[in-house]
Amino acid sequence: MDDTILKAPRVHQKLNSDELFYLLKEQDQAIPKKPVNRDDYRCDCRGRYCDGFPVSLNPTLLEKIEELEKQLKKPVQIISGVRCEQRNTEADGSKHSFHLLGRAADIRCETIGIDELAAAAETVELLVIRDYQGDVVHCQWND
Ligand SMILES: [Zn+2]
Ligand SMILES: [Zn+2]
Repeated sequence: MDDTILKAPRVHQKLNSDELFYLLKEQDQAIPKKPVNRDDYRCDCRGRYCDGFPVSLNPTLLEKIEELEKQLKKPVQIISGVRCEQRNTEADGSKHSFHLLGRAADIRCETIGIDELAAAAETVELLVIRDYQGDVVHCQWND
């Protein structure tokens, strides 16, 4: 385990570092969290492969997105929240997607463009990927 990843300033963190993925996976399994499985973050395999929450939604990710909604004064739509492995493979194939950890959500907001939404998400300290093709902002919480 390389703990320089965690000490590095957030802006230099890689969004999909394999080491970080496993580190956080272990950490999340070791520290029990109270479930905050809000229905709109449910895995969108729609019950084909899982019960909707193969992992719990990260509570801080949820808080940050709620903070973002307050800031925007509008609700955001959760296009993709938690994903099971099968659904993740179908959706984008990224093996170490943070959706598998309950630490990422793809969001959209009517009337607000990708760039503006992404910039707002960054102000609440989420890590973002602007997905212009999918017309969503991938938001991720790494801490
Ligand atoms: Zn699923
Ligand atoms: Zn995503």
